[in-house]
Amino acid sequence: MNKNSVFVLDKNKKQCNPVHPAAARKLLTEGKAAVFRQYPFTIILKDESTDEIKQLRIKIDPGAKTTGLAIVSDTNIVWCAELGHRGFQVRDNLSDRRIKRRSRRSRKTRYRKPRFLNRKRPQAWLPPSSMSRVFNIQSWVKKLCRLAPTTSISMELVRFDMQKMVNPEINGVEYQRGELFGYEVREYLLEKFNRTCVYCNSKDGPFNLDHFHPKSKGGSDQVSNLVLSCVKCNQAKDNQLPADFLSDRPKLLAMIDKQRKQPLADAAAVNATRWKLKEILKTTGLPVEIGSGGLTKFNRKHLGISKSHWTDAACVGKSTPETLNIRGYQPLLIKAMGYSFRQMVKSDKYGFPRGAPKLRQKSFFGFQTGDMVKAVVPKGKYAGTHTGRIAVRKKVSQMTIKSSRKLRSKSVRQMLNWAHYRFELFLKHKAAEYNKIVLDVSEAYTSKTVSWTGEILNNLGGKKVVTGNDGFRLDRDLNGARGILIKSVVEKFSTTLGDTPSVS
Ligand SMILES: [Zn+2]
Repeated sequence: MNKNSVFVLDKNKKQCNPVHPAAARKLLTEGKAAVFRQYPFTIILKDESTDEIKQLRIKIDPGAKTTGLAIVSDTNIVWCAELGHRGFQVRDNLSDRRIKRRSRRSRKTRYRKPRFLNRKRPQAWLPPSSMSRVFNIQSWVKKLCRLAPTTSISMELVRFDMQKMVNPEINGVEYQRGELFGYEVREYLLEKFNRTCVYCNSKDGPFNLDHFHPKSKGGSDQVSNLVLSCVKCNQAKDNQLPADFLSDRPKLLAMIDKQRKQPLADAAAVNATRWKLKEILKTTGLPVEIGSGGLTKFNRKHLGISKSHWTDAACVGKSTPETLNIRGYQPLLIKAMGYSFRQMVKSDKYGFPRGAPKLRQKSFFGFQTGDMVKAVVPKGKYAGTHTGRIAVRKKVSQMTIKSSRKLRSKSVRQMLNWAHYRFELFLKHKAAEYNKIVLDVSEAYTSKTVSWTGEILNNLGGKKVVTGNDGFRLDRDLNGARGILIKSVVEKFSTTLGDTPSVS
């Protein structure tokens, strides 16, 4: 059983040969090394290493959702991983922001001149969702180069090697007629004709590659003379000329004739993100080998390896060895989580601010959101040992804690959101609706005065409970409210009633 190797650095942080986990465990228990990094697991030796360094190659199969990574020595896989991207999440976040900005603009800045056609994008600009994928891969390649003695990089650049298909001179007849040529052409035609029989539109395979102009009647082996056909149609056509076979369907004949001559659109076969990645990988200074998707598939079938992201990565490029031992390997699963947000306050689905602004401070006690930690909690609800990713949170305001409030949750939310003045207007409106009176009073001394004895507490401070000199205790807010009521009633009505009303 093979396992992902453990990366090893020596005393001077020089990259050494990665070792089997058992060897790493031995080094650690003997005290010859210490843990340097948890993800990916790396140890640091306490001495200098004089071992001969094996040359390693990082191989990459970039994908939209997942990228396969593999580090390969001459015949062995040393380490493998699958890197999950957040490209679609980035795209969704940005379109979400765009909608909110547009809506805010129509509400608040109508008088400004529209400003949307004066932007210029730099050359070779790629959308942030694509760049996110490129940067994910770049940061892992950099990381791996720091931890393992890497001397070269391979990546899958294009899906089909079109140049080799139309110009057989480039790699000689052998390439064109070989098994690999078959793979490349087959994959290309499947894509070009959308996995559909050109004659009957059937999507059920298996498909044959049909020479449109039969070979026996002078048709060439050029890719433009090949079309995708189901076995039935191919047999029915036999060695007839297309004009004879499709004599009753001239429209179809013209369509196929046009389609077979058109090369697959560049956009479908070549991916801008991959070209960008190639440029960025070149900046590492290591030689970058490129391969096509057809070659990857050929290598993988040749080695008898099943398909997954990381096995595809291991089979990228011409440098792939004749034999490759992949038994028992399990990839390290990596998920891109993003750095943080530029947004200072989160917003609800309408784009209104929600909650408190985020803190400017990012790290607390040496930790920040996203750090992998081991927490030992000695007692309480969460007692035990936990390992995982931490999230830094600000303590929730005491005001809205559920158990200690009496108002309906809707009113609480409104009180917290509304300015005092707006709440007052709302209250007066509601009072008129129910035929009640709202008195505007000053709240001076209502907190400090004990409402049933009249004494003034100068040492109240932040206490939650008011205690009178008779020993009776009352909640601070209730006492305040009662005080406000008595005070206002006395001030407003004592002149007309002539006596202090009693309130209990
Ligand atoms: Zn057919």
